[in-house]
Amino acid sequence: MVKVIFFDIDGILTDGSVYVDALGNETKRIQFDDIDAIFKLKRAGIKIGFITGEDNEFCKYVKKRFSPEYFLSGCKNKLIAFQKLAKENELEKSSVAYAGDSERDIELLKYVDCSFVPNDVDPEVKKAAKVVLKAARGQGVIKELTDFILEK
Ligand SMILES: [Mg+2]
Repeated sequence: MVKVIFFDIDGILTDGSVYVDALGNETKRIQFDDIDAIFKLKRAGIKIGFITGEDNEFCKYVKKRFSPEYFLSGCKNKLIAFQKLAKENELEKSSVAYAGDSERDIELLKYVDCSFVPNDVDPEVKKAAKVVLKAARGQGVIKELTDFILEK
């Protein structure tokens, strides 16, 4: 049973794009359905975590917006970062789910017992996941996996 779910940020919570205006200001995009889904998971008693290689203002926003139980930013190696956190917090990998979308997520997608990828990822990344979702990156990935987890 999944007790904690970890999300990559770029390509899972967002569509993996950076939106840039004429002044060079960068921003990202999140679907309301996914925001709602995160709070639905929380209400169901599932703990939330984010694991990202990035460490920027957007990460701070995500941390503030969702108050996740776990938040790892600036991760060079996500598997090692996860293993350290899991050990410190006594998380069993059998009760953890992870959703990621790129090559740097492959090791962690393989490691945990429950893992998800969006549909529009590289074949190598798809192979590493236990579940390939119908949703494309940033297009309701979290909503779809929330329905999957809560229906189980
Ligand atoms: Mg990503």
